[in-house]
Amino acid sequence: MSDCLFCKICDGKIPATITYRDDDVVAFKDIGPKAPFHQLVIPIRHIASLGTAGPADAALLGKLLLVAGKLATEAGYGESGFRVVMNAGPDAGQSVFHVHLHALAGRSLGWPPG
Ligand code: AMP
Ligand code: ZN
Repeated sequence: MSDCLFCKICDGKIPATITYRDDDVVAFKDIGPKAPFHQLVIPIRHIASLGTAGPADAALLGKLLLVAGKLATEAGYGESGFRVVMNAGPDAGQSVFHVHLHALAGRSLGWPPG
């Protein structure tokens, strides 16, 4: 998608602090971190939102979770804890319509989320 911010990050057209990349997934530091550790894990293939994903996306979506867990654990938050969040749709606060998993850690995270 030529007008998608996160597709542009995958393509290197917009700079980001990339922390992980493979053939399917890219991770990078959130530009407005909400915790000391805040990274976004996204599929390279454009999926607008979890609500529009289908069975063909199952492996890719699962991989986002595994990469988020690996990054948080490698950053030292495996024992103290971390949170993964995917906002889907306007009421949940999704502002970029390219599926992304937030990985947050480094402070006590309140529950329930706002
Ligand atoms: P959401 O509100 O769930 O759609 O999350 C979008 C996230 O993308 C927010 O946490 C933003 O801070 C983050 N974001 C927006 N633009 C960029 C960018 N250019 N580089 C890194 N993160 C970004
Ligand atoms: Zn996109």
